Amino acid sequence: MKAIVDKNTCIGCGLCASDCPAVYSMTDENIAVVIADPVPAEHKEAARLAAENCPVAAITITE
Ligand code: SF4
Repeated sequence: MKAIVDKNTCIGCGLCASDCPAVYSMTDENIAVVIADPVPAEHKEAARLAAENCPVAAITITE
């Protein structure tokens, strides 16, 4: 499973990095980046939830 952040859509709210810090992190420019690729099995559920909770749907999950 892969998580992809569309940096042009991300508004830097920080929610994903807060929900799932093992997979998402914020850059100095306050944009989310994926730091675990592929997503480890134990973090899949949280990574998926963070994608669903992103207020601007900037995160895409692929199998
Ligand atoms: S939840 Fe969405 S908008 Fe917020 S930091 Fe993460 S990718 Fe960006």
